[in-house]
Amino acid sequence: MYLTVREATKNYGSFTALNRVSIEIDEGEFVCLLGPSGCGKTTLLRLIAGLSDLDEGEILLEGAALSDLPARKRGFGIVFQSYSLFPNMTVAENIGYGLKIRSTPRPEISRRVTDLLNLVKLPQLADSFPGQLSGGQQQRIALARAIAVDPRVLLLDEPLSALDAKVRAELRGEIRHVQRSLGIPTLMVTHDQEEALALADKIICMNHGVVVQAGTPEDLYNRPRTRFVAEFMGISNLLPADAVGRAFPDLAATRPQGSADDHIACIRPEQIGVTPDPDGNASVRGISFLGNLRRLEVESPAGPLVVETHGAKPCREGDRVTLQVAPDACTWVADDSTRAPAEAQA
Ligand code: ADP
Ligand code: MG
Repeated sequence: MYLTVREATKNYGSFTALNRVSIEIDEGEFVCLLGPSGCGKTTLLRLIAGLSDLDEGEILLEGAALSDLPARKRGFGIVFQSYSLFPNMTVAENIGYGLKIRSTPRPEISRRVTDLLNLVKLPQLADSFPGQLSGGQQQRIALARAIAVDPRVLLLDEPLSALDAKVRAELRGEIRHVQRSLGIPTLMVTHDQEEALALADKIICMNHGVVVQAGTPEDLYNRPRTRFVAEFMGISNLLPADAVGRAFPDLAATRPQGSADDHIACIRPEQIGVTPDPDGNASVRGISFLGNLRRLEVESPAGPLVVETHGAKPCREGDRVTLQVAPDACTWVADDSTRAPAEAQA
């Protein structure tokens, strides 16, 4: 493993912001740290960057402990949420800053800055000042500055969250492209599950200072282990076993043998098929047209369900329908919503 955080704990007074958090980043990997506001994402990023100290645990880079290495000697590139460019330097000076303080010869800095400006697609802005740039442009420059020094790890703390939706989606693609082409191991913090799904090789989902699940985007979306992860990764229908039995008798048998009483079924809206049927046991309460799909509110023997369909309009409001779910589209998850945070991680 390239970068390993092992059992990291961080307290602020009597408040435990991180509780024995372990994560791993492989060479060339793009890892997203995902979780709601306040769950400890920035705290973990700052520990890795060397901007604050661990209370317990260790951080290893290629097997060597980082604890005694100050931030500036770790050779990490960092981009924060808010624009952190030096306002009194030009774009070119900002990008070249790290090279200059490493006494890189001037012609080499100049070459490197030109290459990086091309890489982030802003070659015309070399002599502009940060104040003259849009938010999206500033973040591209911040990214160029972070990678100028060939960082061993790239750390991004919600770099897109201050931007509007269109720029955010564009820049998301850019970050992915830059990371892929340079192969820099990257840890990006986000609270946006769509962003994490789109970008990550691996997602580490956190809540209340602990890691609740880590895996590929497909794992977290299709195979959440708890209600928290199921809900955080997108809209899901979460049903207790008796409700599943009433609406989808076939699915009740998919419940793992011996699974605890608090296991509930997670069925994603796009996994439910609807067919108009005058004798059906469900009815369509509402339909929202969302451009690429239709979202249906359906009243069923299991209670209200959200169903999403693509393509032709399948039915109208008020229609009676039959619902189908393939057995492998139903995931049984632990219901952690009623437990205290400390218990829920167990
Ligand atoms: P996130 O980045 O996931 O939103 P943070 O890591 O910033 O969360 O914060 C995690 C928790 O630690 C929050 O409850 C926050 O209020 C608390 N916290 C963060 N920094 C400090 C600090 N310097 N002193 C006290 N509490 C802090
Ligand atoms: Mg944060």
